[in-house]
Amino acid sequence: MKAGFSIVSLTVAMLAGLPAAVAETTVLRDFTLIDGTGKAPATNQALVMTDGRISWVGPSAKLKVPAGAKVERLKGKYLMPGLIDSHVHLGLVDGITQNLQYQTPENIEKQLGIYAAYGVTAVQTLGTEKDLIFPIQQMRKGRTAMSRVYTVGQGVVFKGSYGGVPGLDQSVATPGEARAMVDKEASHGADLIKLWVDDEFGMLEERMPPQISSAVIDEAHRKGKKTVAHIFYYDNAAELAREGVDAFAHSVRDRAVDDALLSQMKAKGVWQMAATLSREASFTYKTLPFLDDPFFARGVTPAVLKELASPERAAKLAAAPNFPKYAPTLQHAMDNFAREVKAGIRYGMGTDSGPTARFPGYFAHWELELMVKAGLTPMQALTAATSANAEFMGANDIGTVAPGKWADLLVLGRDPTADIRNSRAIDAVYIAGNKVSTIWQTCIGRADDACGGRP
Ligand SMILES: [Zn+2]
Repeated sequence: MKAGFSIVSLTVAMLAGLPAAVAETTVLRDFTLIDGTGKAPATNQALVMTDGRISWVGPSAKLKVPAGAKVERLKGKYLMPGLIDSHVHLGLVDGITQNLQYQTPENIEKQLGIYAAYGVTAVQTLGTEKDLIFPIQQMRKGRTAMSRVYTVGQGVVFKGSYGGVPGLDQSVATPGEARAMVDKEASHGADLIKLWVDDEFGMLEERMPPQISSAVIDEAHRKGKKTVAHIFYYDNAAELAREGVDAFAHSVRDRAVDDALLSQMKAKGVWQMAATLSREASFTYKTLPFLDDPFFARGVTPAVLKELASPERAAKLAAAPNFPKYAPTLQHAMDNFAREVKAGIRYGMGTDSGPTARFPGYFAHWELELMVKAGLTPMQALTAATSANAEFMGANDIGTVAPGKWADLLVLGRDPTADIRNSRAIDAVYIAGNKVSTIWQTCIGRADDACGGRP
C-alpha cells in the first residue's frame, strides 16, 4: 500500500506499522481539553503521546515530561479527538464525475487524506465499496497517515429497489440470498451490515419487504454484527425498529416522527447513527452556497469549482422533477432529528459524503453546523461526532482523549463549544501522534501558495 499523496508526508516504516526502535514521545501542553465524552472543557491540560497512542492526560501542573520528549505548548488552543464520520462512500468520484471505475486504492487513499486534512480522522463506509476496501480497512490497526476506515463492505439491496451503485452486484431477491450476502460480507471482515429500504420518492416500484430485511437483520445478529438501514419513510423506520435494526443511516424524511416510533426506538436501543443533514441541505441548492469559502475551495480543483458554479448545472438541477421535494425533506430531517435527541434516542454524526457533489471532510463541518441549527448544543454535536460514533461503531481505541487511545487529535485555534463554526479553525491534525497536513495547508490542483493565506 503506497501513500501516493502529496499532502501526506510519512515514512514507509510508519505506514507499514513497523515498531520504532525507541519510544517516540511527544508532549502537548497548556491547551483547553474537549475530551469527546461531553464533559465540560478543561483549561490548562496536557497529554503525553507514546508511539502514536495517548499515554497520559491531565493538568499541565501535574505533567512530568518524559526524558527525550518533544514538547509543544498550545496556549490558547482547543484540543479534541479527531472527528468520525459514520456515513461515507469512498472512491465513487473523480472531481464530481461519478463512476465506479474511479474506485481504486489510490483514489480512496487520496480521499482519506482529504478527510484527515479536515480533521476527520476516521470514517465508516456504508455499502458501495468493492472488496478492495478490506485491505484499506486493515490499515486502521497501525500508524496510518490517513483517516481510519470502518466498513460494511457492500450493502444489501432488494432487487428492483433503491440502493447500491451501478457496477456492484449487490441485489438479492430472496431471504436465502439475503442471508448468503450477509455471510459473505461478514466473512470478508465487514464491521457491520447495511441494508437499503427506499424507493427514491416512489420512482422505483419496490422497497425491500419485511421478509428480506428481517432475514438480513437476523443473519447479521447471528454473525455478531450490528445492522444499519438506509431509510426514508416513517413506515419503514417503524417496521425496521420492530425487526430489531440497530441504527438508521438517515433521518425519517416523509413526515414527523411520533411518540410511538420514538418509544419503540428507545425500547429497542435503535440509534440515529447519522442524520445526513448536510446531504439533504446540499440537494436544496441549485448552486452550492459555499463555493467561495476558502475552507471548501482548498479541497477541490479549480475545474470542479467552475463546474459547480456553472449556470447550466444550476438550471439542470432546478429542472429535475424531485427538486421541489428537497426543502421539505430537509425540514423533516432536521425536525425529526431534534425530536429524537430530545426523546433520549442515541445518535451519532454522519454526512453521506462521497457521491457526486457531497464533499469529504467539508460536509462533516457543515453537518455539525446543521445539527446545532436543528437544536443541539455545539457540545452535543461534537460528542456525537467523537465518542458516540466510536461507541456505536465499536471503535474502542478512538473517539475520546484518554490513555490507551490512538493520538488522533484535532487542535483548534478557537472554541468550538462557543460557536460550532470554530471547528473550522484547524491548527493541527494528528493521526497516531503524527501531524498530517491540514486543509489550511492544502490547495488541491494548484500551486501550494495559490489558495492565499488562512483567513
Ligand atoms: Zn449513503
